[in-house]
Amino acid sequence: MSKLTFHLTSLGCAKNTVDSDSMAQLLERAGYQPTQSVYKADVIIVNTCGFIEPAREESYRTLQTLAEAKRPGQLLIAAGCLTQRYGQEVVRRVPGIDGILGTRRWMDIVELVQALRNGQPPAARYDLPNAPTVDCDERGTLRASVSGSSAYLKIADGCRRPCAFCAIPLIKGTLVSRPLEAILADAHALVKSGVRELILIAQDTTDYGHDLGIKDGLSLLLDRLTQELPIESGLQWIRVLYAYPGYVTERLIELMATRPQILPYLDMPLQHAHPDVLRRMRRPANVEWVYRTIATMRAAIPNLALRTTFIVGYPGETEHEFQTLLDFVREMRFDRVGTFQFSYEEGTASAALGDPIPAEVKEERYQRLMELQQNISLQINQTFVGRKLDVLIEGRKKNLLIGRSYRDAPEIDGLVFLEGKAGIGEIIPAHITGAMAYDLTGVVAAR
Ligand code: SF4
Repeated sequence: MSKLTFHLTSLGCAKNTVDSDSMAQLLERAGYQPTQSVYKADVIIVNTCGFIEPAREESYRTLQTLAEAKRPGQLLIAAGCLTQRYGQEVVRRVPGIDGILGTRRWMDIVELVQALRNGQPPAARYDLPNAPTVDCDERGTLRASVSGSSAYLKIADGCRRPCAFCAIPLIKGTLVSRPLEAILADAHALVKSGVRELILIAQDTTDYGHDLGIKDGLSLLLDRLTQELPIESGLQWIRVLYAYPGYVTERLIELMATRPQILPYLDMPLQHAHPDVLRRMRRPANVEWVYRTIATMRAAIPNLALRTTFIVGYPGETEHEFQTLLDFVREMRFDRVGTFQFSYEEGTASAALGDPIPAEVKEERYQRLMELQQNISLQINQTFVGRKLDVLIEGRKKNLLIGRSYRDAPEIDGLVFLEGKAGIGEIIPAHITGAMAYDLTGVVAAR
């Protein structure tokens, strides 16, 4: 008898991708076979994103398209953030859905599929946002998403920060850190399977371990990782994403400066630079801390690549406040900047402020900030021309190799295009010969 098959579509962020891959592992372990073909799949799963309005619309569109094309006997399951927050609405808006699963219950996917195959109605499988979670580590599932030689490794889920604009704590609940030993075990398994780059992710990596009573847990984790998996193990790069301002410790800076495996790269979403806007956002408003910490980091860590994210058009943002943000970006010269236009989210603290900034003003501020940053990024990229950089080769297009340097996190940063020969998955030295606003070009150097 042929195996039952599943097709999984993952929408949204890297954290969702990790959950999707973990669901796939559980299904495969239960005897289901993955398929690229939606048509051939017995079970179709969409791991949705419900973070902001455009992401919700994309999730609904995907579900509706799949529901309309469903053939008799196929099961369609909606999982993830959208169903966690708007489960009943998802069932109402997409009549073809057979089952739903909240984001904190992805580990129940096999039971859900079996229940649906036995004819159980979907409503019985919907978990309220605050339902207790099964410890995902109990099932021995690898909490990682692997792509070639690179893997996202989830170290915690949920968030206990009070950011007024953010729906994540409503969707994901408060911080739940994974036990240190479980993360290390996953790291060992990943490196053994050939992974060369580990990317540590959580909503806020600098909060790792707080709920476990561990102080400065991220530093402890990095210390243990580099001790247990030295460069000889094959683990060459460790990248840290999503650090919360105010929680980058001296120890973390020291580790980044002294352990060659920890990449000199930090993604620290700052969201704004005007203290009044930050206060309205319920974010750390001590901009002096940001100046001081970045100066300390840049002094201690040569070639530090800094990425950050800003929101423009937050309720009440004046032209003067926006100008402060532009001046800050001009002065700080970040390597990478991501910009979002404020999106009204019901249920959040900022919902009370409404969405008073007109869409065209948000768009205009977005364009001004992006234009400014593009020039800065280009200038910084140009400083790499003539230098040597290690590049992780991830693909090939026509005659060019495509890779990433330490300055590039997958999907959000730039690429390096190289002439020459190298294997996919290798980290090789390259001479940089050209620079664009986001990407670099070069040639493979002698090893
Ligand atoms: S730290 Fe990030 S995930 Fe947590 S509430 Fe703030 S913006 Fe949301």
